Amino acid sequence: MSRRFSSYIAGQWIEGEGGHADENPSDLATPVGEYGVVDAAHTAQAVEAAAAALPKWAFSTPQQRADVLDFVGSEILARKEELGRLLAMEEGKTLPESIGEAARAGQIFKFFAGEALRIPGEKLASTRPGVDVEITREPVGVVGIIAPWNFPLAIPAWKIAPALAYGNTVVFKPAEIVPGCAWALADILSRAGLPEGVFNLVLGGGRTVGQALVAHPRLDALTFTGSAPTGHALLRQAAERALKVQMEMGGKNPLVVLADADLDKAVECAVNGAYFSTGQRCTASSRLIVENAVYDEFAARMQARLAKVRVGDPLEPGVDIGPVASGAQLDTDLAYIEAGHADGAELLAGGEQVEWKTPGHFLAPTLFAAKPSDRIAREEIFGPVAALLRADDYEHALALANDTEFGLCAGICTNSLKHATHFKRNAQAGMVMVNLPTAGVDPHVPFGGRKASSYGPREQGRYAVEFYTTVKTAYTSA
Ligand code: NAD
Repeated sequence: MSRRFSSYIAGQWIEGEGGHADENPSDLATPVGEYGVVDAAHTAQAVEAAAAALPKWAFSTPQQRADVLDFVGSEILARKEELGRLLAMEEGKTLPESIGEAARAGQIFKFFAGEALRIPGEKLASTRPGVDVEITREPVGVVGIIAPWNFPLAIPAWKIAPALAYGNTVVFKPAEIVPGCAWALADILSRAGLPEGVFNLVLGGGRTVGQALVAHPRLDALTFTGSAPTGHALLRQAAERALKVQMEMGGKNPLVVLADADLDKAVECAVNGAYFSTGQRCTASSRLIVENAVYDEFAARMQARLAKVRVGDPLEPGVDIGPVASGAQLDTDLAYIEAGHADGAELLAGGEQVEWKTPGHFLAPTLFAAKPSDRIAREEIFGPVAALLRADDYEHALALANDTEFGLCAGICTNSLKHATHFKRNAQAGMVMVNLPTAGVDPHVPFGGRKASSYGPREQGRYAVEFYTTVKTAYTSA
């Protein structure tokens, strides 16, 4: 174990306590590295450093911010293969997916380098004579970032980049199982020309470091991506102190397949959406809702296609699906497979662990023919396990698609303009896909959901300005 990943507080690298193994889920005998965790006192220091750095950074020039973000974006893009390899080893995504994620993180920094130079404002005529009204955007302040493990480069990028672009300072707490990717980002940021304290990284647990961050009185805003139970608990905590929050949480995303769909395309959308990235995407298609007329044919085609999917080490060419990211997530996935059997769902594919050359958390892509009331059709699993549901017709399919507490993404495969248009208008989700997988979005447009999936302003694209700034209205009489 050669690499040691540390925290970064007030411009200093902090080793932290204990040598925690950064597990490689494809090869449990060979960890990626090790890391030390910091404690609540270190977390408080990070928030205080960010607060101390705020006045200067908030008034830095847009060019200075653009240059920093451009530097970070350029370095990530130049090193995308190497960073992708680290991501693949640490999180388990296949190498092409991991390199793609690294590239996306670089593009996001580049996008917000441009946005730093385009911070919007307005000047309006007053209703009173001789008075000018100006509406400007100012940084919201010290931003706490709490991130999940499933996109360990892209999600931090789409939070850190806009935070810095709009003049905020940052304390970033990544998920415990991806310290290497967090460290790699912090390493680049530490060399980008930021004044000390503007960006801080704290490695540690949710209940320790995460809680110390959320509870700190100098925190001005919290952006969280993670599970719905954690997000809703943090939301209640934030409400008590009127902390500005943005929450992106779980999903139980439907993909509707109508009888008039191109079935080859629909199967590819389903396999990609449900199983790529090992199904560990908040936008994964975990409910495949298929119109009765093509249900049997679609099920048979899915079985044939899944039989060809190769599960294994994400660094190995030809592997389609890497391991489940952690032992805890594997236990969850296996418990849901048990729940599927217990609820009487019919196993159509997978359902068991896969042997590989090295010991790892490999799980076969699993498909159940289920009922809408089954747990596997209602609760977020966050693994390569999907539920196939039968719909009488389009109206029934739409009703099933909307019959969930979540509302992140909804997809439909159809050649009917009428049904595609109706679905876009009536799907209760923040994002809708027509003839595309539910997972896989552009970095320059808003991302987010409705219902229990999201809370607060949207992330990404120009809509990010809503969360990372606060508006000031100034009146002037000459
Ligand atoms: P999680 O909720 O377990 O953890 C998310 C983060 O919160 C981690 O950094 C964790 O350490 C921290 N945390 C946990 N308890 C905390 C506490 N009490 N106080 C402060 N911080 C705490 O989620 P996860 O397992 O890392 O990620 C998977 C989840 O993320 C899934 O539900 C998935 O749908 C969701 N997700 C959502 C989106 C989206 O944009 N909607 C994107 C990716 C992942």
